[in-house]
This record gives sequence, structure tokens and C-alpha cells, in this order.
Amino acid sequence: MREALLVVWALGLVIRTNAQVPVVQQALNAVNADSLVWRLERLSGEVPVDVGNGDELILSRNKYQPGNALAAQWLQQEFARMGFAPMVQPFGAAGQNVLAVKEGQVHPERKVLICAHYDAMPGGTTAPGADDDGSGVCSVLEAARVLAGTTFENTLVFALWDEEEQGLIGSAYHAAAAAGNDEEITAVINMDAIGYDGDGDGLMRIHTRPVANSIAIKDSALVVNTTYGLGLPIAINNPGETYSDHASFWNQGYGAILVIEDFDDDPNPHYHTPSDQLQYLDTAYWRGLAQLAIGTAAVMAVPVIDAGMPEDRGNGALAIYPNPARDKVEVRMPAGTMADVFPVITDPTGRAVRDVLTSRIASNGWIMDLSGLVPGVYLLRAQDGAKLLTGRLVRWP
Ligand SMILES: [Zn+2]
Repeated sequence: MREALLVVWALGLVIRTNAQVPVVQQALNAVNADSLVWRLERLSGEVPVDVGNGDELILSRNKYQPGNALAAQWLQQEFARMGFAPMVQPFGAAGQNVLAVKEGQVHPERKVLICAHYDAMPGGTTAPGADDDGSGVCSVLEAARVLAGTTFENTLVFALWDEEEQGLIGSAYHAAAAAGNDEEITAVINMDAIGYDGDGDGLMRIHTRPVANSIAIKDSALVVNTTYGLGLPIAINNPGETYSDHASFWNQGYGAILVIEDFDDDPNPHYHTPSDQLQYLDTAYWRGLAQLAIGTAAVMAVPVIDAGMPEDRGNGALAIYPNPARDKVEVRMPAGTMADVFPVITDPTGRAVRDVLTSRIASNGWIMDLSGLVPGVYLLRAQDGAKLLTGRLVRWP
């Protein structure tokens, strides 16, 4: 009851200052169940990956199995595919945290971490770890995908920890190094097992405790849940458990929360077994928790609203967002373009592709529906008088 009153007070306080931000809403809309599943099929060994040695299955991400290092390679490849320069933070004998960074444009020294652990249990040759914590890892990758084109004041760090199951070793190493360097971490959003909802009640949990701004981060998550219309039933654990990587940051005095399925009352029966598989996850539920975590990270990173237009990520005159894209893409003309100029999608030979639904969302902005396109590389063209505006678009499989 006391918690409920606090929540109402916090909502009243924050909503007045935190109106809905269109780029955050767009990012949350872009969180895609197919994209989550596509990656988890590979991370959990159902579909082979190719990191340069031909097709291989990631059968176990347990620290003592070869799939652990293979997964680390594949995760770097995924970040690189999205345009990030992936980084490996080595620790101990063979530990490897995998990270990607999106630097803030106003306060690059302030960091917001969205994270999960990629190692898995049990110890044998089969440890798919789809829920624990493939669900969190694929959501971090999805965060990188949907937030790549947005400009933030603070730096966003997409972090995938190793050796969580050996005692939060990878995250503890990172948090201790950050504290040792006096790094300013303003929020950590940890996802660990966010895909299982056996009783179908939709309930999820946020673990927080009065360390630094952890309570405020939890309040921000609750605001995101209402402001962006997610409407998830959320239970709060305060003081929260210390059984996952967020606790490594609490130990160093940083604010952190854990986003997790209802592990208390509806635990995944396949937890830490060879049957922790994708087939037991509820993808709609999983997507909702991913949206909550991604929205919270985006709000804590503070979008640069005045930028207005999505960042032009090297696509020439046309700004295309997100890119690569799967379902829909937003296309912006440069300022000063005539109002009757509209984008056309062509194949690489310049032939126009038919049946792409294009709708105007602003005087210089368009949404294009890519759902009918074969995956691959396309060109976007718009003829503005004598000037030809172009851009390159990749449609995801
Ligand atoms: Zn876990």
C-alpha cells in the first residue's frame, strides 16, 4: 500500500515534466517480435550462425563450453551489422564482456547502461538459455537497433555480460573498473529472464532498492509504462534481490534496476535446464518487457528533441530511419525541399519497386511500408527539380 501511494506521487510529479517524446514512441513501436525471435533462434542454437568459419550452432553458452566464445563473436558481429564498433572487455582468465556505445551529444561522460548476460546454464553441452538470459541479450541488441538513429544527450552503453552464472563476475569487473575511474553512470537497466509467462497474467517485476537513484529509475520505468501506453502489470520488489548483474552496480553505489518476469510466483520450470528453449517463451509478453526497458533507457539517456529530424547516418541527402529496417521506414527530405517531392524505392539497378505504401507524416517526412519487399539493398530516390536526392536502404530478412 505504501509503495502504491509513492508510485502515484511519483507519477504526478514526473508526468508534468515528462511529456511523450515522439522519437521514444517511434523507437518503442519499432521494437519487433520477429527481430527478437530471429536473434534468439541463433543465440540459443536453433539456427546456425556464421562468424567466418561457416555454419555453426551455439549449442551452449555455458562458460566452460566452446559456444560461450562463439556467442561472444556472434554478438560482436550483430553490433557491427547495426553500424556500431563492438568492443570486448576482457577479464579474468577467459571472460569477455561485449559492448557497444552510442556517444551522447551533450553529456558524453554521463552513461546509461542497458544490459543482460549472455553466458548460460546448465554446465553441459546443451544450454540454450533462451529465457535466461537470451531474452535479455536479444532485447539489448533490439535496443541498439531501434535507438541507433536517435540522438541522445547522454551516452548509451549496450552491455552484454559474461560469467553472470559464476557470480556476476563480468558485470562486477565492469562496475568496479567504472567506479575506479570515477565514471558517471546515471542509470543501469538490467534484463534477466523476461520472456516466460506461464500463467498468462502478464505480470512482471522491477527490482530496486534505495541505492543512489535506483528508486527514481524505477519511477521512470513506471512513467514510461503509462506515458507510452504499454500498460504492463508491474510488481515492485523493494528491496530487490541481488541475484543478477544490477547488484554489481549497487555494490559500487550506482543506481540500477532489474527488469524480470514474475520469477517469484510464476518461475520458468525450464530454468537452468537444457530445455530453456524459445518454444516456451511468450513473444508478446517478452516484447512488452523489452519495450519497457528500452523506453526507460531512452528516457534516462534524454533524447535531443530539438534535433527534430532523425540523424542522417551517412545516407546522403535523404535521412532514413531506422536503417536497416524491416517493416517500416521513415524518410526525411532535407530542409528546403519542395513539398511535392516524394521518395521512390528502386532496386540497385535503378528500377522502381512497385507496391510500396508511402504516406506523408510531415511536410518533408514520409513513412514507407517495406513489408512487401524482398530482403536486400535498395536505393531511395527523390527528384527535387534538377536535384536528385538519394539514400541507401537495407531491408532486414
Ligand atoms: Zn540469468
